[in-house]
Amino acid sequence: MKVFKFGGASVKDAAGVINTTSIICKEPEQLIVVVSAMGKTTDALVEVTKNYFNDRIDEAVQGIISSREYHLKIANELFADGNEKLERSLYEEFDALLKRVNIPPSLNYDFEYDQIVSTGEMVSTEILASYLNHVGKITKWIDAGHYIRTNDTWREGEIDWELTRKLLPQAIQFNENSVCLTQGFIGATTFNLTTTLGREGSDYTAAVIANVMDAESVTIWKDVPGIMNADPHQYARTFKLEKLSYREAVEMTYYGAKVIHPKTMKPLVEKQIPLYVRSFLHPEEEGSMICNIDHPMEYIPVVISKGDQILITISPKDFSFIAEESIANIYRLFSKFRMKVNLVQQSAMNFSLAIDRPERDFDQMIRELSEHFVAHYNDGLELLTIRYFTPEAVAESTNGRTIFVEQRTRKIVRFLLK
Ligand code: ASP
Ligand code: MG
Repeated sequence: MKVFKFGGASVKDAAGVINTTSIICKEPEQLIVVVSAMGKTTDALVEVTKNYFNDRIDEAVQGIISSREYHLKIANELFADGNEKLERSLYEEFDALLKRVNIPPSLNYDFEYDQIVSTGEMVSTEILASYLNHVGKITKWIDAGHYIRTNDTWREGEIDWELTRKLLPQAIQFNENSVCLTQGFIGATTFNLTTTLGREGSDYTAAVIANVMDAESVTIWKDVPGIMNADPHQYARTFKLEKLSYREAVEMTYYGAKVIHPKTMKPLVEKQIPLYVRSFLHPEEEGSMICNIDHPMEYIPVVISKGDQILITISPKDFSFIAEESIANIYRLFSKFRMKVNLVQQSAMNFSLAIDRPERDFDQMIRELSEHFVAHYNDGLELLTIRYFTPEAVAESTNGRTIFVEQRTRKIVRFLLK
């Protein structure tokens, strides 16, 4: 049994659903298919949540209706003669959201977020499963909330492995089906409340399922030919990395390579399950393979870019040095606000950190920091990591740009730049 994961870009319109279906239909083996929300649906539903939580109900309603129209349009294009059952089910999903935003929100933004945003995956899987069945590929639609069990860390649910190991094999029953299809990114607590696993978390769902079901491989279908040594949209000459070790892949995702969610590797390494990254635009091509190889990859420079960074520079209010105790306090605060720290630099009077632009609470965190320290920040920066760097690769990436921070080790150089 294999696991296939399709991201939002692969099912962003009717043509995408048809293409995804043809990739699935070519697979002779039993298949578990994990699907994300269509196109930019998750972003749109995050906006709905923010509007709802901030008492902008008209905007929230408008967002829900646009999302409903977008999904209905795709369904209508797929089913020339209509599909009443699917249509009804799409209306039900969005009606539930409309009802939700008409009552006052709970006091917990993260909880509301999970209840609303998870709708994207529910409707994308309903549409794809209906279409697969329509073309004769018998597909079982499975609700991830019934077996991916998590704790109640809203927006970043942690897998309850024991429960998930017990429930998942009961849900994945092939019988006469050749495909079991389910949502990425979502789970549920023991009280059946929906949780999500963190943005772009569908890859992680695929890895969790592969681990529990002892799948023979996982394939992530993307709009790039595989794992590249640099972003082809930004660099003229890029190469596909044919084979990578798990370790190399973890390093790359840690530094911000967007091809795979960073949590994906661990469940796969544990069971030594290979991961393929392939292009849904060219499914006949081989893509990249991540597996258990010892030898390091060939030493060509690998450029990894992480955008939307904020550099926060913290200094003491008096002339005391930034010492261990202060740093521990700073980290405690960052952890409380769930900020992701990507780079750290320390000098006698300054402690600087680069973080991902958080979805919310940034101003509040700066206020709390400012109670004890002087805090400044620079916005809109890019964190660039070059592994196995060469002078040419460094020049190509940094020429003409303002460098805020630079860090070098033997094999890796990192820049925070504008
Ligand atoms: N739809 C979710 C997101 O956009 C999960 C995913 O795409 O993996 O973050
Ligand atoms: Mg997505």
